[in-house]
Amino acid sequence: MNHSFLKIVNGRIITPYRILPHGTVLIKGNIIAEVREGDIEIPDAIQLDAGGKYIAPGFIDIHIHGGGGHDFMDNSVEAFLEIAKTHARFGTTAMFPTTLSCAKEDMLQSLEVYEEASNKNVDGAQFMGIHLEGPYFAMNQRGAQDPRYIRDPDPAEYESIISQSSAIKRWSAAPELKGAIKFGRYLKSKGILPALAHTDAIYEEVLEAFENGYTLATHLYSGMSGVTRRNAFRFAGAVESAFLLDEIDVEIIADGVHLPSPLLKLVYKIKGADKIALITDAIRATGMPPGESIIGNKHSGLKVIIEDGVAKLPDRSAFAGSVATTDRLIRTMITMADVPLAEAVRMLTHTPASIMKIADKKGSLVAGKDADLVIFDENICVDKTIVGGKVIYNRNDSPQST
Ligand SMILES: [Zn+2]
Repeated sequence: MNHSFLKIVNGRIITPYRILPHGTVLIKGNIIAEVREGDIEIPDAIQLDAGGKYIAPGFIDIHIHGGGGHDFMDNSVEAFLEIAKTHARFGTTAMFPTTLSCAKEDMLQSLEVYEEASNKNVDGAQFMGIHLEGPYFAMNQRGAQDPRYIRDPDPAEYESIISQSSAIKRWSAAPELKGAIKFGRYLKSKGILPALAHTDAIYEEVLEAFENGYTLATHLYSGMSGVTRRNAFRFAGAVESAFLLDEIDVEIIADGVHLPSPLLKLVYKIKGADKIALITDAIRATGMPPGESIIGNKHSGLKVIIEDGVAKLPDRSAFAGSVATTDRLIRTMITMADVPLAEAVRMLTHTPASIMKIADKKGSLVAGKDADLVIFDENICVDKTIVGGKVIYNRNDSPQST
């Protein structure tokens, strides 16, 4: 038997350009060897029948905090691995573990745990690098970020953190803070993507930030200024700026709760599938029953309530992260924003891969890229998740299957 080939047949394959109705994906080792309509003759390849289901590139979640009862801020290898496994069941094949505002020591510890967990992560979504969310934020727009840790950018602090790990790929900050422009330039010089987040910036500040590297808006609308009035005069906020500047990429928490249907439609209408990344922003409680949970570290984090399919602060004044999984993001965009399936998939595969500069390897089903795939049915119910040519989730083997 030629075991180096895996052939997935009889699938509706979502490529960047079209849907192949009866396609075959041929995988050699951990790389896609060929994608085409009809069969591919390879003697003795291991064959997997997709049963007429969709075959899409694996979902890429660039903003995620936890799931399955764990948060990356728990700072344990076990937490990292369990989160990766939990989300793989819903089609995520690659993720950027995301931290919250915390003390410098905790950030350094996250980076250490990240390295160890990456090496041991064999049956979960792959870790592609760390996203530091905070602590350089506007206090006013903190949302569920712990106010005890919110501060202005401090070069001594961030230079030392960055010098200790090459895993940091993105850092979310409020660009109007003192020192934030210099911070953005520094991040760019180190190959790290600055993203504007938890911000009260007005257009003039966003424009300057954009010119200095901040090319991504973190969870658009959430923790972000809209139009404000100062005395009689109106100012465009971060949201309008992200719309006005065509080149800015945006991410949206498409759980169907954070943004209602008209806003999902508006973002899609203005930015389009090539500038929008769907994210879960999922917390610990994802995949767990409703009730109380904690965001951030399990000992020192903030208490939150899970109800209506979302996490809220205990006084219900704001959302505090989502309990979404990636399959739900696709369903939300189809049912609430009238987005075609292939476009919804693009916003969770090719677009996030491009934003994070990994599109040379991930985000589309074409020969030469990593064999990260997800197979799902009409209801976007995930049947199999494949990472690097290896089936890491199979619904039929799972005790959760019904
Ligand atoms: Zn977040």
